Amino acid sequence: MTATLIGSPPPCDVYDVGLYDLDGVVYLGAEAVVHAADAIAAAAERGLRPLYVTNNSSREPEEIAAQIDGFGVPCSPEQVVTSAQSVALLLQEVLEPGARVLPIGGQGLRTALEHAGFTLVASAADAPEAVVQGYAPHLSWHDLAEASYAIGAGARHVATNLDGSIPKERGVAPGNGALVRAVVEATGVQPLASGKPLPAIFRQAAERVGAQNPMAIGDRLDTDLEGARASGIPGLLVLTGVTSARDAVLAPAHQRPSMLATDLRGLLERHPEPRHVDDEGWWSCGAAVARVDDGTLVLVDDPTGPLGPSGEQRLSGDRPARVTLDGWRALCVAAWDAADSGRPVQPQDVPALTIG
Ligand SMILES: [Mg+2]
Repeated sequence: MTATLIGSPPPCDVYDVGLYDLDGVVYLGAEAVVHAADAIAAAAERGLRPLYVTNNSSREPEEIAAQIDGFGVPCSPEQVVTSAQSVALLLQEVLEPGARVLPIGGQGLRTALEHAGFTLVASAADAPEAVVQGYAPHLSWHDLAEASYAIGAGARHVATNLDGSIPKERGVAPGNGALVRAVVEATGVQPLASGKPLPAIFRQAAERVGAQNPMAIGDRLDTDLEGARASGIPGLLVLTGVTSARDAVLAPAHQRPSMLATDLRGLLERHPEPRHVDDEGWWSCGAAVARVDDGTLVLVDDPTGPLGPSGEQRLSGDRPARVTLDGWRALCVAAWDAADSGRPVQPQDVPALTIG
């Protein structure tokens, strides 16, 4: 099956569990994402039970649930799945109950490991059987050195997630993956890891609530949407976080969303099925049609709009374009099909896109 968009009735009427990412989907730092609370509640009412799946391992589920609850979306700690919990489950498959582990990370990681029945130790001198590394802002060289000593002495190296970067208020900073690689640089030992885009965390989340037909919802191609593809579940991309509409047009096959929306209201709306229209490479989605002509994206966006039924827009990389939601969807499927056929649109030829 090719990695492209699917048509769907409103997803909240089709899927039984929504595996929501948090940052950039539900909140941005301390602020709620616009339309998120109302859309999650309305979708839940229609059958899409929310679970929140985060690569953040430093915060406790209780703390995260309280924040979501504060936005007006009722949330219990059981609805929060962290990469700390995920890695603790993975570790239970390879270590005996009560095994000694050295946590390098935040309180959320310590709690998850304790709940999973492991004995926490503070030093390589305690001969831990595993080092579990998760992001926390207070980590120092001494912590990474302790991890390296333990791994050098034979402990397994386990990571909550491998995100190379983490967006912060002042910019982009090194994420857990960057700190894990610092340790790998010293030890030469490759870690066992969890967290999106690895499929374990989505599988564990779906199992927790007995989901029959889950979907993932996220703002990052390289974690949420790649994780959805790796898990074989549909992924909805929203534009309220780090990914732009232009990024989606350029997405490699293993990171492509199955559905596109500007925000979470897309859970409550029908997604038109893209169709291959003719031999010249035209793809339709809703009213819009698009194709790639000699490396250029061509769009007939709204036949009822000012350009009329024959109003072709030839997009140029240096000229930002305003397109409809279906126009964006048509551009994505046309660009993806062209890429899969060995004639990809070059990044410099894809403009910044505004939807609406
Ligand atoms: Mg996110």
